[in-house]
Amino acid sequence: IHSAVDSQLPLVRDKAFVNGAWISARSGKTFDVINPATGTVVGQVPDMDADDTKKAIEAASESFKTWQYTTAKERSVYLRRWYEVLVKHQDELATIHHCRSRKAKNTSNGNGFPEEARRTYGEVISSPTATKEMLLIKQPIGVAGLITPWNFPIAMITRKAGAAIAAGCTCVVKPAEDTPLTALAIAKLAEEAGLPKGVFNVITSDRGHAAEVGKLLCESPLVAGISFTGSTVVGKLLYKQCSEGVKRLALELGGNAPFIVFDGADIDKAVMGAIASKFRNCGQTCVSANRFLVQDGIFDCFVEKLSDKMKSLKMGNGLDDSVTLGPLINKPQTQKVDGIVQDAVKKGAKLHLGGKPAMSLGDMFYEATLLTDVNDSMRCYREEIFGPVAVCIKFKTEEEALSIANDTRSGLAGYFYSGDISQIWRVAKRLAVGMVGINEGIISTAEAAFGGIKESGIGREGSHHGLEEFTYMKYMCFGNL
Ligand code: ADP
Repeated sequence: IHSAVDSQLPLVRDKAFVNGAWISARSGKTFDVINPATGTVVGQVPDMDADDTKKAIEAASESFKTWQYTTAKERSVYLRRWYEVLVKHQDELATIHHCRSRKAKNTSNGNGFPEEARRTYGEVISSPTATKEMLLIKQPIGVAGLITPWNFPIAMITRKAGAAIAAGCTCVVKPAEDTPLTALAIAKLAEEAGLPKGVFNVITSDRGHAAEVGKLLCESPLVAGISFTGSTVVGKLLYKQCSEGVKRLALELGGNAPFIVFDGADIDKAVMGAIASKFRNCGQTCVSANRFLVQDGIFDCFVEKLSDKMKSLKMGNGLDDSVTLGPLINKPQTQKVDGIVQDAVKKGAKLHLGGKPAMSLGDMFYEATLLTDVNDSMRCYREEIFGPVAVCIKFKTEEEALSIANDTRSGLAGYFYSGDISQIWRVAKRLAVGMVGINEGIISTAEAAFGGIKESGIGREGSHHGLEEFTYMKYMCFGNL
């Protein structure tokens, strides 16, 4: 809109995408999109409310009437075309992405759903009765409401919408208010790929309207299910709102990942994994290592090596390829991270590195920070930090490590490094999480099932299991044969 970025990037849109058309909010209101690395306005998009959402739901519902009867192969062809135009425009998408939420340029946009669409199978049951035959088939649930966060603005949408559309559902996406431009760019590419109107709809709204939009998506009888990624607080609210209509619900909520390093681990590999897991996207992923639990025999060595590697992280704007640590998403997040660090320091934690905002770069950058001597009275011990702060806790035995690791209501990812095969099997089974990295710090991929247990969520995304959130099983009994 105002910046040079827009005129050069055809995928930057200033309208929402409903029923195959680019539309404004009925109220005519818009809101600004800000680049956190520079603080500048990079676009304006419609600030839509429940009335606008209703229109999008109706469009998706109308479209479902025919879309549900397309063959899996037809849907796979559409998805493949969409994927191809996404790949063709990946540089432009990355630029839009970085103008809004800086992260390393290698942000993945993998999407296996063109293939998975064709592998939705049913079952034939061995009938217990000679005159009956029994089948199980899978059918699309209907309109899916997809509410996504800002931290992976492309992948969060494609892995939900890819699964929903592959299954035969239509969808209404409500992207995070911080990152509507990437969502609209994806919609532009859906249009380019020829997706029929109403199959993929995007409504944008500022934070002020998020609650009413979310409520309608949960409560409208025309919506069959919700898939949400975001905070645990909002996830719980959506769970309640979905109860009235007994809606299908998939939730990917917060994590509090333990990252355990045992005495017998390869320390250099553990440090590399720690850096990847902790500092990717500036610590702002729900699978980021949140607590480093390090056995006493190697504690000092690990902390020293981690500190050395952290010193080599380069802070700055993600459009610069050499940058490995970008800004936090917004000012409240910077303040929250600083609050967690100051709380620990005040209560006696040892600060090895960082510990303050990097003001010379702007007020959304925070220095890579390393803390030890922490205890359970400190916020950093229990809260999901979502920032570039590594907290190292010393433990003596495997039992103690597991008890600290599992002492949380979250259960998304967990990581550990060990050279002992028996220990690897024991710990992998006993960590109370949905995903485990064993001698590995980066585990997310479209091919694997992503999701948590406990308050980290319900359901799985990615792999063929991701499709199951958007299908229901129908039992058919053929009688009097
Ligand atoms: P984050 O901390 O990552 O911003 P949120 O859970 O607050 O996580 O936001 C994730 C998504 O949920 C965003 O798209 C946001 O607009 C949306 N959201 C926020 N509040 C509500 C709500 N009350 N109902 C539905 N969606 C909401």
